[in-house]
Amino acid sequence: MADKMEPNLQEKTDDLDEETLFIVSQTFKALSDPTRIRILHLLVQGERSVSDIADTLHLSQSSVSHQLRFLKNLRLVKYRREGRTLYYSVDDGHVMNLLEQAIDHALHH
Ligand SMILES: [Zn+2]
Repeated sequence: MADKMEPNLQEKTDDLDEETLFIVSQTFKALSDPTRIRILHLLVQGERSVSDIADTLHLSQSSVSHQLRFLKNLRLVKYRREGRTLYYSVDDGHVMNLLEQAIDHALHH
């Protein structure tokens, strides 16, 4: 038993820190809402204005704006301003991959 690992060496596991856990859970929270999923899925295909998103998805502009603010806070989307119009686009490849994986998963059933 001389070669047995020291107990404190075994405790050195690779646990996630609190900030990482928070960001990961926020990421899944962002993807847990059908409206946000539809918006992100649309934006994956290219930049869109708020009213274009609302028209395409048959949603109110205020509901789209609300969800876009949520996604912007998590830095999953970004916008550029052109006059009075805001054009939104996706801002994170990892999360878009996650989304596409989840969609593929849903479709293969
Ligand atoms: Zn699957």
